[in-house]
Amino acid sequence: AQVRDLVESRLVTIPDFPEPGIVFRDLTPVFADAAAFHALAGALTAPFDGAFDHLAGVEARGFLLAGAASVLSGAGVLPVRKAGKLPRAVLNEEYALEYGSAALEVHEGELAPGSRVLIVDDVLATGGTVAAAARLVERAGWQVAGISVAIELEALGARSLLDGRYEVHSLLTY
Ligand code: IMP
Repeated sequence: AQVRDLVESRLVTIPDFPEPGIVFRDLTPVFADAAAFHALAGALTAPFDGAFDHLAGVEARGFLLAGAASVLSGAGVLPVRKAGKLPRAVLNEEYALEYGSAALEVHEGELAPGSRVLIVDDVLATGGTVAAAARLVERAGWQVAGISVAIELEALGARSLLDGRYEVHSLLTY
């Protein structure tokens, strides 16, 4: 509860961003506060202690969280990048956005077969982003150890999209 309160005290909520009707949760003040950032990074991995070998961070805010959690937990980072950024052979997964689609990529063979990968991101909304990351991990021959996010927007139904297939942990829910 202490970590939750600390992170929540730094979180800023912006109505009508990026468009009318959307309530945007902004974690940049959490990143700017070393104590809150440290506590958040630790809280993301704590429920999965001993159950993961690598942290997958989803571009871009997931990179910050995975990097910090890597230093605390001793697990390496798998950057899950937007399409077109990685220089070697990739796997690609498309996912739906409100308008159109986007794609995420990882390098083939980046991790050893069977590696247990904990997927981390800042906000879980519809779940489309982490679901695409999970498909990449599985197609690459690794295992999804779980999904851990700072904030879950419950009304957007990520749990039903993820369909009980993964252990999902969120520090704060709205
Ligand atoms: P989803 O794919 O619908 O679950 O959306 C999650 C992705 O959109 C994450 O990578 C988030 O960074 C981003 N996102 C969605 N809503 C918010 C928000 O309120 N604040 C910050 N990022 C958000």
